Amino acid sequence: MGSIEAPQKFKIIVIGAGIAGLTAALGLHQKGHTVTVLERHADTQALGGPINLSPSATHIMTEYGLEELIHERLGLRERPVSLRRFEDGSQLGTTPVGTSKKLYGSGVWTASRFGWQKIFKQVAEERGIKIEFSTPVQTMDVDTATVVLRDGRKLEADLVIAADGAGSVVRPIILGQPLDRRDPVGAINIDVPLDILQDDPELEMLADEAQNFWIGPGGCCAAGPVLDTGVFNMCWISEDKFGRPGEWFIKGDLAGVAERYKDWDPRLVKLVKAAKPENCYIWNITDLPPLPTWSKGRAVLIGDASHATLPYLGMGATSSVEDGRSLAECLDRAKSVGEIPLILKAFESLRKARAESVINMSRVAMGLWHLPDGEQQVQRDAMYAAVFVPKLWDGKPVDDPPTGFADPSFRPYFSGHKTVEFTNRKLDEMGIER
Ligand SMILES: Cc1cc2nc3c(=O)[nH]c(=O)nc-3n(C[C@H](O)[C@H](O)[C@H](O)COP(=O)(O)OP(=O)(O)OC[C@H]3O[C@@H](n4cnc5c(N)ncnc54)[C@H](O)[C@@H]3O)c2cc1C
Repeated sequence: MGSIEAPQKFKIIVIGAGIAGLTAALGLHQKGHTVTVLERHADTQALGGPINLSPSATHIMTEYGLEELIHERLGLRERPVSLRRFEDGSQLGTTPVGTSKKLYGSGVWTASRFGWQKIFKQVAEERGIKIEFSTPVQTMDVDTATVVLRDGRKLEADLVIAADGAGSVVRPIILGQPLDRRDPVGAINIDVPLDILQDDPELEMLADEAQNFWIGPGGCCAAGPVLDTGVFNMCWISEDKFGRPGEWFIKGDLAGVAERYKDWDPRLVKLVKAAKPENCYIWNITDLPPLPTWSKGRAVLIGDASHATLPYLGMGATSSVEDGRSLAECLDRAKSVGEIPLILKAFESLRKARAESVINMSRVAMGLWHLPDGEQQVQRDAMYAAVFVPKLWDGKPVDDPPTGFADPSFRPYFSGHKTVEFTNRKLDEMGIER
């Protein structure tokens, strides 16, 4: 009988303390690797609205031993997510509470980006992961896995994971050139205190739902309560190209929003009018084209650095969480530092199609959501009414991306995915031994 060697443990640097970097650090630490996270800012960023983690990611949270802690610290409870018509808020479809858990084994959990990052940071530090804040990375050498900090210091590791977001400094080094920018969308992010809704009979039901998406000609509004920060967040997204990439604090024009969207659901117009100018920012949101590769030498891109997506599918953070879990599983099969480049190529080849399908389907959703009223919009509404009705699933893994929203494999593919099972099955198929 052959003996199974204990997996090799590595010294790993993660660049970026966003959702991708912090959750990857938790997964790698759980496997026994020594992990240091380098973050350019002084702390995790406090801006942003609700972020849903889908069942494929909440399942991983449970595997990391975080389910109870997250519910306790973020006060989560499963609430409905609905798609609504722009001018009167009538419901086009809603996710019945409890379906995700029943069908896919885990729920959809919603909290603020701030709340997620804060809890991942706390747990990482409690578990002994070192996070160095105010530590911007300037550049790196992918062959020696050496990171050069802006202050001139050099840090060496066995592996560098670049989770440094859509504006990644490591990506051009891996690709050998910068990327051409894609046409982004513009967003106006507005917060109002949650009490305003709780004290108004017309608005109070909006405070009790996880998230609502109003869709209409030329744009949409994603809105929902952020229980952990006590605000109601509205993010108005359109194909207008404004804002600057990576800048989240440019002041927006509230009166302009109220004017442009004056024919939308009166509850939304009322909320825009209740907001204060200091709580209105314009954002530029972009996605990435499929990259020729995610890795070179002993460096690999994860999260938005390799597959930033538009937010129409609500899957960007989820696929970032899947990356870290999958990478940790892949590294179990690296028997030496010298095998890391090969393992990174295996990781990228098994993850890419899934991450890119999120980008592609988000673009398709954008086109559908922004349709003007007319025949196509009527067909779209009928399609969504059918899509939102939960369908039984036999639990068999679905590996191929769905062809569209009406494809019965759509939800099993996105929500039923089990990262560990998929990763190990693919590694076995590639003949990479444990
Ligand atoms: C409006 C909107 C709504 C969204 N809603 C959802 C949703 O409902 N569900 C979902 O799953 N996803 C959603 N997303 C997407 C999700 O927020 C992202 O996909 C996810 O947060 C990506 O995380 P990340 O860690 O890869 O990148 P980031 O969050 O960008 O983190 C990168 C980190 O790296 C740091 N960094 C960058 N450069 C350096 C450097 N040189 N040195 C050191 N540190 C550096 C940054 O400061 C930052 O902390 C949404 C996105 C937007 C814009």
